[in-house]
Parts: sequence; C-alpha cells; structure tokens
Amino acid sequence: MSEQKYNLVCGLEIHVELNTRSKMFCGCKNDPFEALAPNSFVCPVCLGMPGALPVPNKQAIESTVRLGLALGCSINRHSRFDRKHYRYPDLPKGYQITQYELPFCYGSSLQTSEGPVRLRRIHLEEDTAKLLHAKNKGEESRIDFNRGGVPLMELVTEPDIVSSAQAKEFGKKLRNIILYLGISDADLERGNMRLEASVSLRKEGETALPSYKVELKNINSFGFMEKAIQFEIKRQTALLEHGEQPAQETRGWHEQTGETVLQRSKENAEDYRYFPDPDIPLIELSEELISKLKADIPELQSAKVERWKKEYGIEERYGTLLSEERTEADMWEALFIVLKKDGISVADFVKDVSNKKTLFTAVSSVADIRAHYLAKKSADAPSPEKIAEAVALVISENAKAVADYKAGSEKAIMFLLGQAFKKLQTKLGADLIKEEFLKQLI
Ligand SMILES: [Zn+2]
Repeated sequence: MSEQKYNLVCGLEIHVELNTRSKMFCGCKNDPFEALAPNSFVCPVCLGMPGALPVPNKQAIESTVRLGLALGCSINRHSRFDRKHYRYPDLPKGYQITQYELPFCYGSSLQTSEGPVRLRRIHLEEDTAKLLHAKNKGEESRIDFNRGGVPLMELVTEPDIVSSAQAKEFGKKLRNIILYLGISDADLERGNMRLEASVSLRKEGETALPSYKVELKNINSFGFMEKAIQFEIKRQTALLEHGEQPAQETRGWHEQTGETVLQRSKENAEDYRYFPDPDIPLIELSEELISKLKADIPELQSAKVERWKKEYGIEERYGTLLSEERTEADMWEALFIVLKKDGISVADFVKDVSNKKTLFTAVSSVADIRAHYLAKKSADAPSPEKIAEAVALVISENAKAVADYKAGSEKAIMFLLGQAFKKLQTKLGADLIKEEFLKQLI
C-alpha cells in the first residue's frame, strides 16, 4: 500500500477590537476592561433598543483603512454597513451590524517565510456583549454589555497557509503591524485579538479546495493556534486514511488535554439574510482622506530593520529583536544616534546588547543604557599598565613600521595599532592605545 500524503489548506479569520475612545455606533466609552461594573458603559443604541439610531465611528473607520493601506490593500471608496441576522442573547437587536459586499479594504497579501498569504478582505463590525455563564446549578447566566458595540475589525485571508508555523508567523506579523499603527492593544489573552483558523486537507498534487472545512474558533494565543492546527492535521489524516471525510464543523482548542473539541456541527451554510442597514448612509471615503491616512502610516518593522541595516550596519536578526515594539524601537534608535556621534560602532553595540540582554533589564532610559554601556566597555578594556606593556612590545618588534611612522606614514600607525589589538586580544580602549603609542614614540 502506498502512503498517501495530505497537505494542509488553511485560512485565517482574525478579529481585533479597535482602541477608539467611543464604541462603533454610539458615544459610550470603549473600555470594557476598565469598567468598574458590568453594564456601566451602555445606552439605547448598544443595548439594541428599538428606534435607537446608530452613527458610525469615524476613528474606527480610519483605523481600519490605515491597516488596509499599511498592508497594501485596495480601498473601497464607497462602502456600507449591512445587517447580519442571527439570534443569540449577546446580540439583542437580533442582528449584528457588519459589512458584507463592500468591505473597507480588500486584496493584497502579506509575505511570510513560506510564501505570500493573500488577504481577502478587512471589514468593520460591532462586537457582541459578553455572556457570563452560570457555573453552578441554580445560578443565572448574565450578560455584560460593556463590550457590546465595541468596534471590531475582521481580517480574512485566502486559504493559502500550508503549515501551522506559517499560520503563527502570519498572526505575529499582523499583530506587529497593528501595534505599530497603534490602532489596537491586540492583547490575545484579554481577547481583544481573537484567532480563527479554517483547516482542511487535500491529497498531495490536488489543487481544488477540499469540499469540507473545520473551523477552529476562539483561540487566544499563537502557540495554541499552532498546536490546534497540528492536532487537526493528525485527526483529519487519520479519518481520511480510513476513507472517511471529516465533518464540516466548528471546534475549540482545549489546552489541558491538548486536543480540539467539537463545539457545533454545521449541516448547511447558515443563512444570515444580509441586507444593507437602512439606518446608516453609504460611507464615502475621499481621495484626500485616503492620502492623508497613507501619509500618517509610520515606518513599519520590516522597513525599519532594513533601514537600520543600511544606516548602522545592524544585522537583520538583531534589528528584528530590538524593534518588536515601536516605542522600544524608537528608544533604541535615539541611542544609536548618540552612539554614532560618540564614534562607537552601533553594529557592535547591538550585537553586544542582544547577546547579553540581562545587562539592560534594569535600565530603561537611553541615557541609562548609554552610561551603562560605556561603563561596561571601560571595565572590559585593558588596564593602562597592560596597554603600556603591549605598546612597548609592539614598538620593539616592528622597527620598520616605527620608522615609517616617524617618516609620516598614517598607515604605519594603523598597522601598529592592529598589532597592539592582537597582543591585547581586544579592540576595546582603542583611544588609550593610540595615545600610548604617541607617548612612547615621541
Ligand atoms: Zn452605547
């Protein structure tokens, strides 16, 4: 029997709560984590009272478009909001306001080390309320509407992902861009960034999409997503090898058992009966606004790492390490500028701090790090006695270079300096060594 190989077909849906001041369609405070009590940031609009009129949040729309522009997406100049109908207690209107046919952003792709992942769309919707399920018999389930109506951005990829590692890399890259743009805290643990992966398998060599997909929902860490996909590959492979087609269903990740578990099976595609929300006018984005938003996009990590390489000679792996967060990256760069002025090699400095990160755990300001670094450097530098000894030795062993130097050769002093470095087995204290040569050669 020949061994059949199956390949992963995976797409992602990523929800991100935006950090706007107010909610998506009302003036209530958008800060569910800081609310002192459940249902304290609510009004008739986000409670879904009949007749209450939604007004779209401009900041949320701009944040969504900024992400789209940063990712190179096309922007729909005319866009609109639609109603998606379903019944669940976390959605009192009986429908969610979302975008269906005309999302704000579409197209483009994000590069990963295993190839590009195409982006299908980025749209905006309202988050649902939080259900607090009864834990014990006799208790009531409760609903907290502080989260209801919070602006929720959804990014959907095409099923281009071929490995669990690639899914993780994509998610991390996207999160990094979101943080650089400052449009969300993208905190997975708190749930303001949520991951969903659709996973199916096809025989090697096949190109058509499989006729089923398993949706992995509510995953709150990149590591869990990676594990959940790996588990699904094993589970689905075993089914396919027995001639069974995996069922179309939604599964969750159970960290304790390390398995995915069935949440609900989907017989047919649900009919949400989408239609344009008649209470919200068409959204028109002017060319002027789009250009302004484009101009506001900060330098992203990948571009920064590239520039650091050119400007300071910083190796890519170290540049990536020091630029994970934008504010931290800015801090490092402020320091690079100072060091460069001091005539210190930024590339060497970065290599040093990246390899001994502990040195800097207790310090936070640029001035602190600089002082620390210089102190460390001078502590590692050879003592004046050692320098004097080495210089004397080099002079006695290199009569020709000494003569050349005395005849005015600039190269000769560089050669002698190099010999001293070799003797001392370090380049630290170069200035002192040079001084010592000048002193002894008078
Ligand atoms: Zn409200």
